[in-house]
Amino acid sequence: MSIEHPDLKLYIDGQWIGGEGRDTIPVVDPATGQPMGELPSATPADLDRALQSAAAAWPGWSATPAVERGRILRRAAELMRGRRDRIARLLTREEGKPLAEALIEVDGAAAHIEWMAEEGRRGYGRIVGGPAGIRQNVLKRPIGVAAAFSPWNFPATTPARKLGASLAAGCCCILKAPEEAPATAIEMVRAFAEAGAPRGVINLVCGVPAEISRHLIASPVVRKVSFTGSTAVGRQLAGLAAAAVKPITMELGGHAPVLVFDDIDVDAVVRLCIASKYRNAGQVCVSPTRFYVHERIYERFAGAFAQAASALKIGPGLDEGTQMGPLANTRRLAAIENAVADLKYAGARLIAGGERLDRAGNFFAPTVFSDVPAQARAMREEPFGPIALLLPFRDEEAVIEQANALPYGLAAYAFTGDGSRQLRLSERMDTGMLGLNTFFINGPETPWGGVKESGYGSEGATEGLEAYQTTRLVVQTSS
Ligand code: NAD
Repeated sequence: MSIEHPDLKLYIDGQWIGGEGRDTIPVVDPATGQPMGELPSATPADLDRALQSAAAAWPGWSATPAVERGRILRRAAELMRGRRDRIARLLTREEGKPLAEALIEVDGAAAHIEWMAEEGRRGYGRIVGGPAGIRQNVLKRPIGVAAAFSPWNFPATTPARKLGASLAAGCCCILKAPEEAPATAIEMVRAFAEAGAPRGVINLVCGVPAEISRHLIASPVVRKVSFTGSTAVGRQLAGLAAAAVKPITMELGGHAPVLVFDDIDVDAVVRLCIASKYRNAGQVCVSPTRFYVHERIYERFAGAFAQAASALKIGPGLDEGTQMGPLANTRRLAAIENAVADLKYAGARLIAGGERLDRAGNFFAPTVFSDVPAQARAMREEPFGPIALLLPFRDEEAVIEQANALPYGLAAYAFTGDGSRQLRLSERMDTGMLGLNTFFINGPETPWGGVKESGYGSEGATEGLEAYQTTRLVVQTSS
């Protein structure tokens, strides 16, 4: 199925807004380097209109029964499912990931919205016992208008988490979609609008990210901020939110360690590691990055890993059989080339890939480095690309310390058949999420978030809904 790239528009106060004299931002196909469309950039007046519109919609939306809000969310999810092929193709064209991954992502995004449609009905408070004649009610209230910033690497999942939770809780949401890959969020907002989300409940803006975040976070209309992206940008937004005393949920970078002990099936674990490492060309915040492999199986593991990485089929995400697509933008390409040069300079042993493919588009070979020295920059900085770093270890205690040593703490993984070791790891790994014998850690009903410089707060699950609620105590006497 070939599709035209749609008109890229903002959605403000219930209206789709095109260029109309605004600056525009080109949207480029990462598989060819060719422009596909022009995205209008929101002006300060557009942002003010979005704020006014959200403020006007909030009293009505927050007073709408949760069951009715849930109906609209469910309908939006159904509309997205009905359009999954088209949305997934747009996602792949803009972001680059293989179509099969994009389809899973769109389905997952619909599942997140559906789950929140139900969970919104359970935003209960509680009654706390007090002296005779006194009732103490703890109410859960929607916090107000949220400003949400979503990145380019998961153009469906991230907006779905933010829109699903905020709307289910009774908040209005001003969403900044990623400028590099806006079409998925546009289609999602269209689904919400068609499902009956009242005017102003969702506003969709794009433009110059720093201008938008400064404008929205400073506005008294905005009561909650949610950001997914790099730690560097998260730090800036946390500062803006702190100055305005606003809560912020931050899902930032990671540098996930994988501990592979010697009591596992090497070939089976290598297969799982390859699928997870090169998913979305490694541009995933929970992507496994540092593979600490027990010395008894290290050489066999490294050989099998390098062979499997080299065998991956690289190509445009829409081509049949593609297992890894291009990097999403040229910034990533430059960053990966730099990381590889530094790894070589530091003395790491290149055992697969290591270079850009000789063709148009942002293609980079799946890359594996073995015996990586601690001073290599990629050992501290998130590569956010198709680079695996392999290191041997001998001692459980020492490897846990190494795994925990970075300021990041988003995801970690371990492969071992030893039950008591699994318990020790659950206690000792300093991370927001831990996969034991699995890389699958993402579902609508489980919390998603990190510790340390990987951020704070959770998305998904009851925690994700609570992030958009405030607690109000009402003490009541009979007279
Ligand atoms: P970046 O730091 O410039 O941007 C990251 C994201 O934040 C982008 O979506 C961007 O549009 C947005 N952004 C940038 N400045 C902003 C601002 N002042 N206000 C609001 N939003 C802003 O980096 P990049 O080159 O786009 O991405 C690469 C880095 O971002 C990676 O190294 C990775 O660490 C991180 N990243 C993390 C995630 C995640 O899921 N945690 C997602 C995407 C990118």
